[in-house]
Amino acid sequence: MSQKNIVVVGAGVSGLTTALLLSRNPEYKVVVAAKHMPGDYDIEYASPWAGANYMPVSVRGTPAAEWDRNTWAPLENLARNRPEAGVHFQECEIHNRTKDVGSATAEWFAELLSPNPWFKDVVPNFRSVPKARLGAGIDSATSFTSVCINTAIYLPWLVSQCLKNGVEFKRAVFNHISEANTPKIHSSGKVDLIVNCTGLLASRLGGVEDKSVVPARGQIVLVRNEAGKMLDISGTDDGDDEACYVMSRAAGGGTILGGSYQKGNWESQVDPSLAVRIMKRAVELCPALTGGKGIEHLDIIRHGVGLRPVREGGARIEKQRINNVWVVHNYGHGGAGYQSSYGCAQAAIQLIDEALNPRARL
Ligand code: FAD
Repeated sequence: MSQKNIVVVGAGVSGLTTALLLSRNPEYKVVVAAKHMPGDYDIEYASPWAGANYMPVSVRGTPAAEWDRNTWAPLENLARNRPEAGVHFQECEIHNRTKDVGSATAEWFAELLSPNPWFKDVVPNFRSVPKARLGAGIDSATSFTSVCINTAIYLPWLVSQCLKNGVEFKRAVFNHISEANTPKIHSSGKVDLIVNCTGLLASRLGGVEDKSVVPARGQIVLVRNEAGKMLDISGTDDGDDEACYVMSRAAGGGTILGGSYQKGNWESQVDPSLAVRIMKRAVELCPALTGGKGIEHLDIIRHGVGLRPVREGGARIEKQRINNVWVVHNYGHGGAGYQSSYGCAQAAIQLIDEALNPRARL
């Protein structure tokens, strides 16, 4: 049986997770080729900027909900059994204000805010928070056990797991997806299949140019203060496309204060007034951060901006023949690239197996 040669374009969480699962099959020889790699911080590279946690916003009965559902068990396993991956359990609380109904943030969070979301039987300890425990202006709240991923540890960990399984890594910038089909990239010669995990830049990559992929700008502040738990709220009084959430990353990764969800906004620079609003909202939502004191008691590690690769209609997991070579797409995960990563990679691999082993499927 001859090995099949695969190039995964993209080294964000989508490309790395797909490469890792592919590398467990000895029939596949995998090369990851990308402009940005773990360790880089760039506006064209979403993955390092993410919180990142598991708080599904996918709608019941959709493929996206299925991908999120299939991702919980692998993340839970990492949190329980693989401390070196930088994933830990955290309790989280989702606060809901009736006045936010219809706002952009509340629409984005609709399933998450529901008292009866599809994932209530997936995550442990899902429950409603008693009304007496709710702060002023909060109409209802739910809580459950989730995970928070330290992306600065997790992305390099994914690389190391891939390397252990024989995956090669190459820096490359492609103008067209078919440029991945060259012996310069895959030394084994002929490329049998390309996996497209280019995130937001799928909107510009030749052969793909998917204009339904747009940025949803997320600004964050990373601080040394500890929050104790993850908190999320349905909206803010500062604008429809601003958000408020707090999560402490595993293994000394600091606490992420978010945020914003500014669709169509490509701005890479930090907006200092938005940063102040983010910090004010965070200490109000989570007084434990500063012991009830003001934002001057936040100890800032860095400010950041990342662009979520949102695709109208949801992530694209499809196979397509381009210039006589199979391309399997796995991009456009919006604000859910981590929490859907294993489910999406599994779905992409099913298409890869179909494309490369058609007889096995008869
Ligand atoms: P990216 O990480 O952007 O990677 C794209 C890769 O493709 C890069 O390696 C790039 O170099 C490469 N590439 C692109 N074009 C080319 C080309 N032409 N040639 C060569 N290489 C190319 N998700 C969650 O699940 N939970 C969260 O809590 C969460 N919080 C977030 C908070 C913020 C502030 C932001 C910005 C995002 C958040 N997300 C979260 C979303 C998550 O970060 C993204 O969905 C995810 O990172 C997308 O990963 P990706 O691998 O598809 O894309």
